[in-house]
Amino acid sequence: MKIALIAHDKKKNEIIELAKKYKDVLSEHELYATGTTGTLIMGETGLKIHRMKSGPLGGDQQIGAMLACGELQLIIFLRDPLTAQPHEPDVSALLRLCDVQSIPLATNSSSAVIMLEALKGKIYFD
Ligand code: PGA
Repeated sequence: MKIALIAHDKKKNEIIELAKKYKDVLSEHELYATGTTGTLIMGETGLKIHRMKSGPLGGDQQIGAMLACGELQLIIFLRDPLTAQPHEPDVSALLRLCDVQSIPLATNSSSAVIMLEALKGKIYFD
């Protein structure tokens, strides 16, 4: 399964903790991430991740293009709901495409835990 990991700046620590906790299950899948998120997770966990551009520089749109082509099966995007993002249109477009394609999307760590536990239990979202 191809999985994308993205986190806004104030959520970077949360996604790193998630990636550490679920490193074993994540390592069984092909991982993609926006630039900074990917660099941080790789540095902290050793997981192999395909990195896109940084989100504000087009990384969210690159992930969106993969979604539109049916190339991603699960998205964990830890959003910061309390800080204005300069690339909000890109973020909205990405979330919208998840709904267009009916791709599982977690926008907070509680939802992400449910998805990762499902992956761990081999309950896939086809
Ligand atoms: P980043 O992008 O991983 O490059 O920080 C995330 C985002 O803000 O979309």
